[in-house]
Amino acid sequence: MNAAPLFPRLALIGFGLIGGSIARGARTQGLAGEIVATARSAATRARVKELGQEFGIVDRVVETNAEAVKDADLVILSIPVGVCGDVAKEIAPYLKPGAIISDVGSVKGAVARDMAPHLPANVHFIPAHPVAGTENSGPDSGFAELFNNRWCILTPPPDADAKAVERLAEFWGTLGANVEIMTPEHHDLVLAITSHLPHLIAYTIVSTAEELEGVTSSEVLKFSAGGFRDFTRIAASDPTMWRDVFLTNKDAVLEMLGEFQEDLSKLTRAIRRGDGEALFDHFTRTRAIRRGIVNLGQDEAGADFGRRHANLAKKPT
Ligand code: NAP
Repeated sequence: MNAAPLFPRLALIGFGLIGGSIARGARTQGLAGEIVATARSAATRARVKELGQEFGIVDRVVETNAEAVKDADLVILSIPVGVCGDVAKEIAPYLKPGAIISDVGSVKGAVARDMAPHLPANVHFIPAHPVAGTENSGPDSGFAELFNNRWCILTPPPDADAKAVERLAEFWGTLGANVEIMTPEHHDLVLAITSHLPHLIAYTIVSTAEELEGVTSSEVLKFSAGGFRDFTRIAASDPTMWRDVFLTNKDAVLEMLGEFQEDLSKLTRAIRRGDGEALFDHFTRTRAIRRGIVNLGQDEAGADFGRRHANLAKKPT
């Protein structure tokens, strides 16, 4: 006989890349007895209903956030960071006592600040951030394996119930993630350098290339394999999500941006002075970082991100 699911009822508010991946993973792993979902628009809700009927990844789709959380044991908000506070306020009166309320937002300080004041004392509020994603969004973009061997960072408040934290950690662990616990402030600083700044740089490079006079946009696309295309994947990420990240993690991002600008100035000076040794040393250090990421299992070991290269057609003799 199968063991009882970890949560009898799971409510998912927001059904895009992350909400959809949680539903698929939770269903595959039998983590929830019932999965109830909702999203902001009628179009997304209708699509999720179809996905539920076709693949069984949700049991019910409801019209409102308040309806979704009714009797739910675990509620996860997978929506843009900027609306988490409003949604917390909206669902607060309908939460089941003892329920765990969580989110997946890419910024943790702002989520805790915006949500906590609205939530009743008889629920467990434990913010979370699965450090996993792709550039795609919407109800069809999710997949059950998204969190496999990725990190999920929990930022419970200091007085959080240890058992509730453990249950949420088990949930994410069963979805394949490695769980780490830290403060929201530390999370925001770490993610500012590992995620938010790289996105800002990618957004900048892609628009700079697009605006360059003397190089046509068709040439930018045609010769993109020189490096540019790897930035375009990141720069294709969801505009709403990233607007909210920069609005809500302003201080940490500005701090990292300051460090980045200093390093950029050092490299600019080395190029201007023809200081090959400085450039070589710098690039040698960064190459080692790439190796470290691969060694930690956080990326493919294959060259060129493991892209497949078509066979070279044999020249007719
Ligand atoms: P997404 O694919 O754009 O999905 C967002 C979902 O939120 C949509 O279903 C949207 O509904 C719904 N939504 C928006 N406002 C809502 C509201 N007021 N009430 C109910 N539903 C609402 O976004 P995502 O990539 O899954 O990102 C969601 C969250 O995950 C963000 O906080 C982001 O920071 C975090 N995150 C993202 C990634 C990533 O790589 N994408 C990685 C880790 C964490 P409609 O479809 O009807 O508009």
